[in-house]
Amino acid sequence: MPEANRKSPPAESSAGTAIDGAPYDVAVIGGGVIGCAVARELARYDLRIILLEKGADVAEGVSKGNSGVIHAGFNVPPGSLKARLNVEGLGLIYGLAASLGVPHRMTGKLVVALTESDRGRLEELLAQGGRNGVPGLEIVDRAAIERLAPGVNGERALLSSRTGIISPYEFTIALAENAWQNGARIALEAPVTAVGFGPEGFLLTTPRGCVTARRVVNSAGLFADEVAALAGIDVPRVFPFRGEYLIADKEAGVTLGMPVYPVPPLDDSYLGVHITPTMEGNILLGPGSEAVADKEDSATTRSVAERLKAEAFELVPGLRRFPFIHAYSGLRPKLTDPRGGPLLADFLIEESGRRPGWINLLGIESPGLTAAPAIARRIAAMLGEREDWKEKAGFVSGRAAPPRFSRLDDAERAKRTAADPRWGEMICRCEHVTRAEVEAALGNPFGVRTLDGIKRRTHCGMGRCQGGFCGPRLVEILRREGVPPDRIVKRGAGSELFLGRIKP
Ligand SMILES: Cc1cc2nc3c(=O)[nH]c(=O)nc-3n(C[C@H](O)[C@H](O)[C@H](O)COP(=O)(O)OP(=O)(O)OC[C@H]3O[C@@H](n4cnc5c(N)ncnc54)[C@H](O)[C@@H]3O)c2cc1C
Repeated sequence: MPEANRKSPPAESSAGTAIDGAPYDVAVIGGGVIGCAVARELARYDLRIILLEKGADVAEGVSKGNSGVIHAGFNVPPGSLKARLNVEGLGLIYGLAASLGVPHRMTGKLVVALTESDRGRLEELLAQGGRNGVPGLEIVDRAAIERLAPGVNGERALLSSRTGIISPYEFTIALAENAWQNGARIALEAPVTAVGFGPEGFLLTTPRGCVTARRVVNSAGLFADEVAALAGIDVPRVFPFRGEYLIADKEAGVTLGMPVYPVPPLDDSYLGVHITPTMEGNILLGPGSEAVADKEDSATTRSVAERLKAEAFELVPGLRRFPFIHAYSGLRPKLTDPRGGPLLADFLIEESGRRPGWINLLGIESPGLTAAPAIARRIAAMLGEREDWKEKAGFVSGRAAPPRFSRLDDAERAKRTAADPRWGEMICRCEHVTRAEVEAALGNPFGVRTLDGIKRRTHCGMGRCQGGFCGPRLVEILRREGVPPDRIVKRGAGSELFLGRIKP
């Protein structure tokens, strides 16, 4: 029997695993791409693992709002942990995404110099990539740019043939589901609010109950410094830097085969406003980079949108003609204080000297998505070093991808619709998502019932009308599934769709 088809443990009822006070070997705090990759990696071993996530779903934090680029590793400083884990992650992520059925593609990428004067910067990046051990880099001329990415301006470019794109939230969900399939427990709406210490290890308090764990992995992203403080561990502060994006309407016919980046700013603060195709077929412009005071401040602004367009149009003038359907932002968890202070540009992954058995992951900004599989291995090695862990005999490394109507050929569509009419009922007209897919998504193992959860599992609401057509249909499906209207939420408590009845 293929590994992916083996029997899974029963689905959880709602908000994932019940917290019942049972002791765990390892508790992972945070269900972003890092926490989910760590839980999956640890699930290879005969261990009791629980992942505690504050939100109503996994991939609710930094891991949902990023460029979705699989970075090759030429942008990161040689000798850094980032460089090592980026390049190791590059070597792992394509195979892992394939085995978990996550949409991804090795596209290649161009870093474009608009003038010959920037050629020196391209040479520097090429040399840096060489020092980091990045395969598949070369400098190409204007004719090659035109051939590889028609419509892109530029005199010279660094071509990175191993760069790719991936759906970041589908990757995170797949990692979590595969961890769960292998016995890891996933508790949602379970923010860790206090940490105590007892004979059996760390005592993690959540509003859903208390968890005891011998080891803790703190992968709480932007909040990892605050979670460490709960355990009395002094770590550098995490500062949020907002990156805003615009999404071009795919119906407008913009096509771009690979991400196109400008030559990055000299201060290495970020990679510059780039133009990136997504796995859903849209084009992203962004991100900007603004220090913000609040770790939840994911606003989008007209001023940055205008700047993104101006910078992107220099690289791809043809984008001027196209409409943009949505704006969003992601928040970088940086260790560099925007008010000044030392530039701490590396990932910080270390076991606390004060609290042995507690590992903090701080400053996991880009390329954290790419590096996630390598970070997970590193954590497993750190935790396993002093213990005699046994690999589980029945570890299931793969996951069958949920079928997508939009990716089926006509014959398969007809076959499925004949067998089950729900495959012929369109719930999202823009993204061609059927009732069968929505209902399958609602059968997710963690009991996620949020509109964002359905969106990230099916693409419902990601198209041109941004949920105008599918929204009411999703509400109807959720009601039939037994979710009362006043409990229908976009992403969890506080995001209710309906406030009450206006007619009796
Ligand atoms: C604008 C932008 C663009 C990027 N582009 C790329 C890219 O193209 N390629 C790439 O490789 N990387 C990219 N990255 C980096 C990548 O997105 C991050 O490195 C990665 O998503 C970090 O994942 P994480 O799991 O550490 O954090 P998160 O996804 O934020 O996960 C942390 C989780 O912890 C939870 N949490 C917080 N506090 C608690 C608590 N007390 N108890 C329980 N749970 C808690 C949060 O709800 C959250 O879900 C980008 C990042 C940004 C911001």
